[in-house]
Amino acid sequence: MPSKKSEKAILIVCDGIGDRPIPTLKGKTPLEAATKPTLDKLAAKGATGLLHVLSPGIPPGSDTGHLSLFGYDPRDCYTGRGPFEALGAGLDLKPTDVAFRGNFATVKVSGDDSFEVLDRRAGRNLPEGRKLAKLINGLKLPNHPEVEVIVGHTVEHRCVVVLRGKNLSSAISDTDPHGFSDSVLAATPLDDSKEAKRTAQIINEFTREVHRILSKSPINSSRKKAGQLEANIVLVRGAGVLPVIPPLKTMFGISAACVAGGALYKGVARSVGMEILTVPGATATYDTDVEAKARATAKALETHDFVFLHFKPTDSAAHDKNPKKKMEMVEKFDHMVATLLPLIDMDYTHIAITGDHTTSSTNGKHTGNPVPLLLVGHAVRNDDVKEFSERACAKGGLGHLLGMAVMPLLMSYLDRSPMFGA
Ligand code: ZN
Ligand code: ZN
Repeated sequence: MPSKKSEKAILIVCDGIGDRPIPTLKGKTPLEAATKPTLDKLAAKGATGLLHVLSPGIPPGSDTGHLSLFGYDPRDCYTGRGPFEALGAGLDLKPTDVAFRGNFATVKVSGDDSFEVLDRRAGRNLPEGRKLAKLINGLKLPNHPEVEVIVGHTVEHRCVVVLRGKNLSSAISDTDPHGFSDSVLAATPLDDSKEAKRTAQIINEFTREVHRILSKSPINSSRKKAGQLEANIVLVRGAGVLPVIPPLKTMFGISAACVAGGALYKGVARSVGMEILTVPGATATYDTDVEAKARATAKALETHDFVFLHFKPTDSAAHDKNPKKKMEMVEKFDHMVATLLPLIDMDYTHIAITGDHTTSSTNGKHTGNPVPLLLVGHAVRNDDVKEFSERACAKGGLGHLLGMAVMPLLMSYLDRSPMFGA
């Protein structure tokens, strides 16, 4: 068994991998209906089970789901989505900052001066996102010039908004109506503090100012001429402050790296002390370069004990209610794992493959169904399961586990889980 070389681990997360039975797939899930020889081969070699990422029946967000997978209890350390997005966009947050996830969106002004939402994502395809963010980054709010406004673009229609200054609060509601209302919502304070009231006013002023600036932008005139939706407002959600989380180095004594395309995943990884690697072609969209990601993972393993490899498009396909596309993306995920395996030494590597939640291709939402889990490596006692899918893994030797168990299990194979007792 290994002695000179050190033991390594890879956590591969296929976002939103679980699903519910789909009538058009003859009652199978997209994972069951997909052709995935590599995942099935690994299942035959390893141990499988079902993972309740937060706790049974609770639909996880991608942020809380990943915190659990990294071994943390989100109930102790989760402060909202915004700060993870900001960290993932490469912004450095101060403890007094309030960060939001933002969407460039399309609105029209209706009769009562409210903003009617025509598209929450400004058509999703927004190659001008970086330029639009620049237009409003650093904007001075007429009634609150003392507050610094930072806007950074991430991918597609997504951006982050950070308010920097004194006496701010994250206890304010979203302006993003999430499809439940036709209009941009006014931010409201969620507690009785002066700070929350003030921050809500600041965000409402931000909404109006951003609309004023973006509506006049030549970028939007060109988009209109080309028959595209204007990106003329920013909707915000998930207000939060920088979370205080002990790094993985402290928890398990490991050096860790992250290979991901989406800002949220990079941000959660950064919050637990992972090094965020830049991988050209890792876009978190359907056309993400999985071979580049596999190569980056293998390379990172040479200099780190642990690599987190994230794959997003399965979740996007389910949100788009497109089970066939999700099936296709499972096959792409299988190809990523197939590219990775020949590049690593399985005598010294343990791999966990799982998801951060189920995303239903039928209702387009995260659900409380558990996700399949697969562990493989020389220290793993294999079971009789020969297929990586929700129903096959239900028969696996790992049984039912909570998301927070994945890291201690993986670390125990590396003999890095600290002993409890004497
Ligand atoms: Zn997710
Ligand atoms: Zn999702």
